Formats: sequence, structure tokens, C-alpha cells
Amino acid sequence: MDFQQAKELDSNYIIHSYGRFPLLLTKGKGAQVQDDTGKTYIDFTSGIGVNALGFCDDGWVQAVGAQLASLQHTSNLYYTEPCIQTAKLLCEKSGMKKVFFGNSGAEANEGVIKAARKYSFEKYGEGRNTILALKNSFHGRTMAALSATGQDAYHNYFFPFVEGFAFAKANDLEDTLAKMTPDVCALMLETIQGEGGVVPLDKEYVQAVAKACQEKDILLIVDEVQTGMGRTGTLFSYQQFDIQPDLVSCAKGLGGGLPIGAVLFGEKTETVFGAGDHGSTFGGNPVVCAGAVHILQTMDDAFLQSVAEKGAYLKEKIANMPHVQNVTGLGMMLGILLDTEAKPVIHTLLEKGLLVLSAKEKIRLLPPLTITKEEMDQGLAILEETLNAL
Ligand SMILES: *Cc1c(COP(=O)(O)O)cnc(C)c1O
Repeated sequence: MDFQQAKELDSNYIIHSYGRFPLLLTKGKGAQVQDDTGKTYIDFTSGIGVNALGFCDDGWVQAVGAQLASLQHTSNLYYTEPCIQTAKLLCEKSGMKKVFFGNSGAEANEGVIKAARKYSFEKYGEGRNTILALKNSFHGRTMAALSATGQDAYHNYFFPFVEGFAFAKANDLEDTLAKMTPDVCALMLETIQGEGGVVPLDKEYVQAVAKACQEKDILLIVDEVQTGMGRTGTLFSYQQFDIQPDLVSCAKGLGGGLPIGAVLFGEKTETVFGAGDHGSTFGGNPVVCAGAVHILQTMDDAFLQSVAEKGAYLKEKIANMPHVQNVTGLGMMLGILLDTEAKPVIHTLLEKGLLVLSAKEKIRLLPPLTITKEEMDQGLAILEETLNAL
């Protein structure tokens, strides 16, 4: 199948809910991917923060392949080793106590919302069920996750939403504290609002709201779906904010390219779900978890340090390029604000062999965490040449 055939068949048979780039990808390795003509691209997207170790990492392929050939699925009625190992590693590396597995970021967020409401119901009874989220947030496309998403652009057409969500202004302590009313059971935030334009929260703000949550027994939920799994230079971004959340959702990078979502439960919440309270047919799938174990074992301190260093290198290089107003983000989650429209630039980059993402009006970079200096430099050269020519 060549690109033209792919485009036509896709258009005939697949719902038009994605604005795709004109590119048919066929195979990849690390931070490089090929199209149907054999042209190679440098990848600064990692499948939107999913391919944490890049395309087809040898150890990950080996772990997934071996598990696939021995046991692909059992249901959650039985014990299997890979999901237990994944959960153990997640808890040991995060300071959290227990894990629930689902299949996506949105599903993980459904889980944290349900857990927060049950925790509050059992302790305080009815009427204390509001989830306070932040304006400009993104938590996923399912109805409750969408209800927690503080961007009108995602809300058109889909009313009515799940009840019991309120919104505070991100980085506005006064507004956030004022909205922690007696009906609120949890505060939900992304430390860096990814889809919202790679907007980081201030450390003082996060610490102050975390303290207020603790005082009022409002659960602190951190959505680490995009920021987690090493992306920001620590396994989870909250570890750089010196806070310990009560609930954490993660997904994207955890599976390295296969679907998985996870809820991490802290001391307060670890017993909130009993048998039958929550579930997922595919959750904790052994094949996906065998890959996740490899990823978690790979992300040791030296690996995370290298992510921080590579991120700092990219940030510094890009900040000095023409037309760049600022670069936001942490580690290898970066947003570039240009003094000109990003969209045409993104298309030119693609033509020149560099894949990047957008987030609102910015160019967003989520390179695979294993990218080499050489590959970074190749990508940076394409970016600089393109910006120079504007
Ligand atoms: C991508 C994302 C989600 C949704 O994840 P899906 O796997 O697409 O459901 C939720 N929260 C954040 C912060 C995300 O970046």
C-alpha cells in the first residue's frame, strides 16, 4: 500500500476524527522512523509520549515477545506474574502503596475519580463528591474524564456532562483555595498541562494546594499520564514538586507502545476499592505488563538523569533559535512558543524529515527518552534551518 492508497482507504473506512499528517509510516527503530518510500524521519513525538524507549527497543521487544509466546491473556480472575511485577516496581519507585490496572489514560482517570468519591462517601457520607479540577486541563475523552477537562473546545456537542466537577484557575492560589468548599472531595491536576500548551504549574502553588488538601482531607490527584514515566527527568513529575499525592493516574509511556493505564493509590486510599468495586477486562494484561516491567527496570537513576540532561540541552539550543519566544516544560516535555503561527512550521519540519507535535498555539516536543545526541542534533538542525528560513 502506498501513501495515496492508504489515504483513500483510510478516508473511506475510518471515522474522520483525526487530522492526520500526510505520512504513511512503515517501520522504526529508536528515534528514527521510515515512511512507505523509505524516507527516514527523526522522531520528536514518541507517539505522543508513548514510545518511551523509542521504536522497537530490543529489550522491550524481547520481553513482550517472550510473554506473547507463553500467555497472552488470562482475565483478572487469576494471578499472573507480569502485572504483579509491574505494580511492585511502580510502588517501590513512587512511594505509592497499591495499583489498579486499566488500558488508557482516560480509564485511569475514571479510576481516580471513582476512588476519590468512594473514599469521601465512606468517610463523610453523601454530598461531598465534587472533583475540583483546573482550567485549561486535559484528562481524556470518556465522559467523566471529559467532565474533568477544563477546556471548552473539548466540550462542544457532548452535553450533558457528569455532575460534580468544578474548576479553579491554574497557578492562582487564592482562586483554588476559595473553591475548596465543603462539597469538594478531591483536587485533580497535571503538574505540566500538556494538551493545554505545556504550561507548568509553579512549585509554590502546587505545594500550597497540596498542604491545603491535606488540612481539609481533600484527596490530591495528580494526572501523570503525559508527565509520568520518566518524561520530565524523574519517574513521576510530582517527585520534583516534593509532594506525595493520594492518587496518581498514569498511562502513555508505561506501556512503551502497548495500551495500559494505571491508578496508583497512596496510604489514605489503598483500601478504598474492595472486590467488585472496580474492574477492567484487559487491565493488567501480561503481554503489556511484561513490556512495562522492562521499561520500569530500564528507568534507573542514571537513565532519568540522562533524560534531564537531554531535555536541558534541547531547551537551551531551541531557546536561542530565531522566532522562538520561549520554551516551557521540564525534561523532554517541551513547548515552543514562536512569534509566528506554529502549524505551517510543523508541516515544513515534516517535509524536511522531523516529526513534532502541537499543543494549542505551540510546537510540542516529546522525543523518545532514549534519543541519542546525534539524533537530537539532526532534529535541531532541521528546526533551526526551518526557523532561519522564515
Ligand atoms: C493523553 C492524556 C490523557 C488521556 O489518555 P488516553 O490514553 O488518550 O485516554 C489524560 N490525561 C493527560 C494529562 C493526557 O496527556
